[in-house]
Amino acid sequence: MTQSMTQFVRDVQPDQLPDVVMPACPAVKILKGQKALVTGASSGIGKAIAIALGEAGADVVVNYRSGDPSEAVEKASHCGSRCYAHQADVSREEEVQKMFAKMLRDFSTIDILINNAGLQKDAKFEEMTLEQWNAVIGVNLTGQFLCAREAVKEFKRRGVNPKVSCSAGKIICISSVHDVIPWAGHVNYAASKGGVMLMMKSIAQEVAPFRIRCLSICPGAIRTPINIDAWKTPEAYRELMKLIPYKRIGEPEDIGQAAVWLASDYADYITGTNLYIDGGMTLYPGFEAGG
Ligand code: NAD
Repeated sequence: MTQSMTQFVRDVQPDQLPDVVMPACPAVKILKGQKALVTGASSGIGKAIAIALGEAGADVVVNYRSGDPSEAVEKASHCGSRCYAHQADVSREEEVQKMFAKMLRDFSTIDILINNAGLQKDAKFEEMTLEQWNAVIGVNLTGQFLCAREAVKEFKRRGVNPKVSCSAGKIICISSVHDVIPWAGHVNYAASKGGVMLMMKSIAQEVAPFRIRCLSICPGAIRTPINIDAWKTPEAYRELMKLIPYKRIGEPEDIGQAAVWLASDYADYITGTNLYIDGGMTLYPGFEAGG
């Protein structure tokens, strides 16, 4: 969290709450020798994950469709990791296959897939167009399917290389608290994330015997361009805090650190499950006074 954001939180929150102190965790190279692909990594959560993986020693492909990936590439490689950007639309089969083919040529394999690319096209339900529905399902769900399928092919072909990791590969799907919390006005988004949950669990069940792990991170409200309105004004921030027992907005780095751990052998026995990283949003704080 930046200095100005810390001051903003101090100004808007009630006096009796403690100041926000962000974790200061030095990078440890627990992913050395692993090759990672992060989709939608030119901004927000994907960018923070790409940087965190690079700092943890992984070589990283920064996928992007739009925006400038250069800062993500530069920061992900500043500790000595190899890293390059690759432009591809994850909802297009041919572009995904080309992206994987290039990665296998350049890095010889893939150990970690972070299925992060996502978007919102919000509308009242009866006004939602088929185009808005298809755009969100196409990226958030079909895009994750297309990338996971290519990753699994390579994980199975290569198998376990114990010098690199005790599993043959890891897929981390970036889902949302809206895989369990319904979201009026965002039916396409909630349907896509609900779909990711059972897609992830079904993949996990099918590939676990091959020592391949598949799981989801489900963020709550994270400070990224997707939800800029949430902290634009003190009023908006106070409204948001009613939904967050931990009383701070999430930072992209909160997700980056968790992704490093989940992708590492420290989390080798974790598969087919959701990790909610949401400051307690899924504790349903609306019920904290008894409902
Ligand atoms: P963001 O807009 O910064 O990141 C999304 C990225 O996906 C962008 O870089 C965008 O260019 C990319 N993208 C979109 N369509 C693409 C496509 N077809 N191919 C390749 N890349 C594409 O927002 P974010 O908040 O960092 O979102 C990242 C992920 O986190 C999304 O899946 C989102 O649903 C999820 N998420 C975010 C929050 C939050 O509060 N920010 C909460 C829950 C879940």
